[in-house]
Amino acid sequence: MTTTLPADNTHLVGADWLPAATGATIDVLDPSTGEVLAAVPRGGAADVDAAVAAAAAAFPSWRDTSATERGALVARWATLVDERAAELDQLESREVGRPHWGPPPMGRLLTFVAGQADKVQGLSLPTHTPDVLGLTLREPYGVVGSIIPWNAPGPMFVTDAGAAIAAGNTIVVKPAEDAPLTPLALAALAQEAGIPPGVVNVVTGYGGEAGAALAGHRGIRRMSFTGSPETGAQVMAACARNLVPLHLELGGKSPQVVFADADLDKAVPAMVAGITLNTGQICAAGSRVVVQRSVHAELVERLAAHMGRVTVGPWTERVQMGPLISAKQHDRVLGYVQAGRDEGADLVVGGGRPAGFDRGYFVEATLFDNVSPDMRIAREEIFGPVLSVIPVDDEEQALEVANGTDYGLVASVWTRDVGRAVRMSRRLDAGQVAVNAALGAGVIGGPFGGYKRSGFGRTMGADAVLDYTQVKTVSIRG
Ligand code: NAD
Repeated sequence: MTTTLPADNTHLVGADWLPAATGATIDVLDPSTGEVLAAVPRGGAADVDAAVAAAAAAFPSWRDTSATERGALVARWATLVDERAAELDQLESREVGRPHWGPPPMGRLLTFVAGQADKVQGLSLPTHTPDVLGLTLREPYGVVGSIIPWNAPGPMFVTDAGAAIAAGNTIVVKPAEDAPLTPLALAALAQEAGIPPGVVNVVTGYGGEAGAALAGHRGIRRMSFTGSPETGAQVMAACARNLVPLHLELGGKSPQVVFADADLDKAVPAMVAGITLNTGQICAAGSRVVVQRSVHAELVERLAAHMGRVTVGPWTERVQMGPLISAKQHDRVLGYVQAGRDEGADLVVGGGRPAGFDRGYFVEATLFDNVSPDMRIAREEIFGPVLSVIPVDDEEQALEVANGTDYGLVASVWTRDVGRAVRMSRRLDAGQVAVNAALGAGVIGGPFGGYKRSGFGRTMGADAVLDYTQVKTVSIRG
């Protein structure tokens, strides 16, 4: 790991790996054991000031660097990330607690935006008289800020930083205090790739300290936040005070709508994977099964059998599910299980700490049946491996229940009827709809983001880099 990780207790401000101005640190814990993995700086307002100053100093020359060169540097970063993919994967596993879940996506996410850097174009505009040229320029904002969560710190980091810098901005990222190591390692690789000092900065620290200082900093020109709706609202309020535009990605309560004609052999394993991957700590997790009553009993029986077989353990073992990230999340998820019981849902599988795991933040894959749409476990994001089954009569009621939460991130439909698939795709309130797939069907460059309280703005699509630019209209009288 030493080749990738920077020195202990430092974060990246300009060219320098520094401790926090106060010298204070935060322990990063191994979620499987609760033991200390590493320590990182407990950054605060002074560290954010320094990072924003470094980013502001780096901005003019990065903005004026040829777009071809910027794209090449981001592509070089992608290559280094791919070369160290196994190391980065292990690092993220260690701090998040997840087992290996396939090739890490960071390299390809960076490659995608690297290719957009030199395709940022404006328009030529009609003019009232022939002696005038009218055009639009797409220009970077300047210093942008990003606050990311702990559930997938590597992909979150490159999604914001890659697109922002490809467009010519410089960035300050505040990773989550629970999982800051992968972002630090990725920033070290950006340096190694030759991306100039100050273009990518990372300040580690707590949300209420470094996070709040970044969201409210007057030197930030555009902000991005991924996390809970409550914190998102606070970040938005801080941005409003400075009239700074922002992008919010706030999670979901994504429905898996299963009709009687669905191929259950395909649906069941995909749905179980969709709620147990990363121990359910995925914004896109399909946490509600909305099922047509005629197939309800069979589906629950199959889901129960599948969920009962989910293997649990530390990331070092070949298991399907690791622990939750922290004691706080463990309490939260078990609190929701209790709420489900109290509100009268039927607990079919799981519901507690798995046998043999008396330390770490492990929880069983959990299935609730006969959940009604007004229960808390049907409305609130649990962020754990808890699946709620809600029976419905027909397509109309399925749609009403599926759309009946405050969220609108992802929705899946399981059916063999193409007409129904088309109708549902149009009428589901979600930023992403997948037919006969749980977490999306593997589209390249699909824009990602929410409807309703899941947030606004899109990442990862063809406009990912354009979204980090602002439009200037230029008129030239000759
Ligand atoms: P959170 O929203 O509090 O934390 C996300 C990020 O925001 C972290 O980097 C944190 O340090 C920062 N932050 C916290 N308070 C801040 C503030 N006042 N100002 C600026 N930044 C601040 O989320 P959490 O407490 O870690 O998790 C709680 C719940 O949020 C989860 O159970 C889940 O439902 C949801 N969540 C969603 C996502 C997602 O991908 N959409 C990710 C993580 C958590």
